[in-house]
Amino acid sequence: MLFLPGQPRLKFNYIGANVPENEAMHSGGCLCGGVRYEIRGALRGVLACHCSQCRRTSGHYAAMTSAPSAAINLTSSATLRWYRSSDTAERGFCEVCGGNLFWKQAGRDALSITAGTLDVPTGIAMEEHIFVADKSDYYPIDDGLPKKQHW
Ligand SMILES: [Zn+2]
Ligand SMILES: [Zn+2]
Repeated sequence: MLFLPGQPRLKFNYIGANVPENEAMHSGGCLCGGVRYEIRGALRGVLACHCSQCRRTSGHYAAMTSAPSAAINLTSSATLRWYRSSDTAERGFCEVCGGNLFWKQAGRDALSITAGTLDVPTGIAMEEHIFVADKSDYYPIDDGLPKKQHW
């Protein structure tokens, strides 16, 4: 869908609204199924974030895709909890199984989604490593993808 200057931007209020029939549909969720989501439309390529916060919440580094908040529909969220991990961001996780699902930066109309929680096939691929200056010391980054010291 093309948005021309001056054209009112359509809001995706619910899944199925104003979305072309051929647009990609993704779904995913946590291990116990307490959190399930659907995403309509294209996903960003996957960023591997090696920052200390992602390390401590993911157990390794966090592989995150992203989508506009309005494109995401939580079909189950009974066990979803949010943790304010910094002044500017919150992380969504499942309080039952501990699944690490979402990252949301204040003021941005986008939600980052942990790529490992997507149902396969995801149709996306790893794109780059970020915050490599903060990575831990027990693993190399040797997949040839771009590395950024920060983001
Ligand atoms: Zn769960
Ligand atoms: Zn991070």
